Amino acid sequence: MKSNELAVFWFRRDLRIHDNAGLFAALNSGFPVLPVFIFDRNILDALQDKKDARVMFIHQQLAAIDAMLRSRGSSLLVLHDEPLKAWDSLLSEFNVKAVFTNRDYEPYARSRDQALTEKLGQHGVVFHQYKDQVLFEQDEVVKDNGTPYAVFTPYSKKWKLRLQESGIPEFPSELHLSALMLWQAPPIPELQELGFEASEVEFPQPTTSDDIIGQYAQKRDFPSLRGTSRLSVHLRFGTISVRQLAKRALVLSETYLNELIWREFYMQILWHYPQVVNHAFKPAYDRISWLRDEALFKCWCEGKTGYPIVDAGMRELNATGFMHNRVRMIVASFLCKNLLIDWRWGEHYFAAKLLDYELASNNGGWQWAAGSGVDAAPYFRVFNPALQTERFDPHGVYIRKWVPEYGTPLYPHPVVNFPESRKRCLEVYKAALG
Ligand SMILES: Cc1cc2nc3c(=O)[nH]c(=O)nc-3n(C[C@H](O)[C@H](O)[C@H](O)COP(=O)(O)OP(=O)(O)OC[C@H]3O[C@@H](n4cnc5c(N)ncnc54)[C@H](O)[C@@H]3O)c2cc1C
Repeated sequence: MKSNELAVFWFRRDLRIHDNAGLFAALNSGFPVLPVFIFDRNILDALQDKKDARVMFIHQQLAAIDAMLRSRGSSLLVLHDEPLKAWDSLLSEFNVKAVFTNRDYEPYARSRDQALTEKLGQHGVVFHQYKDQVLFEQDEVVKDNGTPYAVFTPYSKKWKLRLQESGIPEFPSELHLSALMLWQAPPIPELQELGFEASEVEFPQPTTSDDIIGQYAQKRDFPSLRGTSRLSVHLRFGTISVRQLAKRALVLSETYLNELIWREFYMQILWHYPQVVNHAFKPAYDRISWLRDEALFKCWCEGKTGYPIVDAGMRELNATGFMHNRVRMIVASFLCKNLLIDWRWGEHYFAAKLLDYELASNNGGWQWAAGSGVDAAPYFRVFNPALQTERFDPHGVYIRKWVPEYGTPLYPHPVVNFPESRKRCLEVYKAALG
């Protein structure tokens, strides 16, 4: 099979055919394009839950892409291996002249891609990487002196300035599919062959509905309303184009655009400061003496703390793989400050459960809640779950949906006393921070 020269397009977290920067470049490379996806054993083997809905989500997207490509006489090659081993087989089986992909900024992906650049280089193959996951990456939005921003507002102002200068480019890959390699790949491996089972979880449909984005500023903070776009899982896996979404936001809602900028803000923090994965962004916060109370942590995970808004959030997460942003802030603050449990425990729990789990935003959100992160609230600002409920779920609609036994004797007593736990938090933080 090795005779025909070709280019490979490697899908990763950009699972779509349309407006895909790397795919567009591959299709315009002059070579027939072989589309490839690799189920990474390093990632899949580490997942505890063999019904992990994210694997099913990826699987479904790949099946849809493959069906579309097959209707054009092409197909998607799906491998299940460690990435570098998969590349060994690709290079031995096909006459690969160039590889195209979209850039990934997480530390694991960076080292994987570095190793692949070297491997491909040894075969004389160029590895082309494109910006697709964000509007601005790496050093594109930095202070005038070239250093990264660690505060959101000036970052967002510079981001908007850059957008005015550059506009939003389009990469209509869907119009160039005639450059795909015509061939029949083996069928995509079944979920079971990957070691997984189907999950009952339902995924939100991608919608850039004018109603939701248009009224976002008014409704986004109320967890009982459908006031947010629920696009996070689609942004995570690239089933929608962030450029097209940003265009809608520019017309419909600056508040919504700002949230897309938060996403990029945290991504550039992770890019510039990869140490935040395991350490507080502000090093002094690593001196806090967290309680290693596994029983309390279990109450929090299961939504049995006796704080109804916290319990509702955790139960929504456990049942659906989603939690409203306002409630994410409340449960995270409660864990770090009232239960005095290390933000990393909570971060790991979210990472295992969230369909939209994304390292940069999750780490950023947790460090924000713990006070240790970029642009975090001062540590002495401790969210009061009762006041948050009064403001954002005043009629208890969200709470009753997820905690039906609330108000009955079956509902647990509070695991901590709020004023006492707040006081303890301030003392322990103060002792660590001096
Ligand atoms: C402790 C904590 C952990 C979080 N973990 C994640 C995570 O793993 N993955 C994730 O995508 N988001 C995370 N977020 C951010 C936010 O809660 C979700 O992006 C949002 O709730 C997703 O719902 P939506 O798509 O309806 O958002 P919308 O409100 O409709 O916002 C649109 C998009 O903007 C982005 N966005 C919105 N808010 C934020 C934010 N605060 N930070 C970064 N991006 C944002 C998301 O991509 C989102 O899909 C976390 C927030 C907190 C406080």
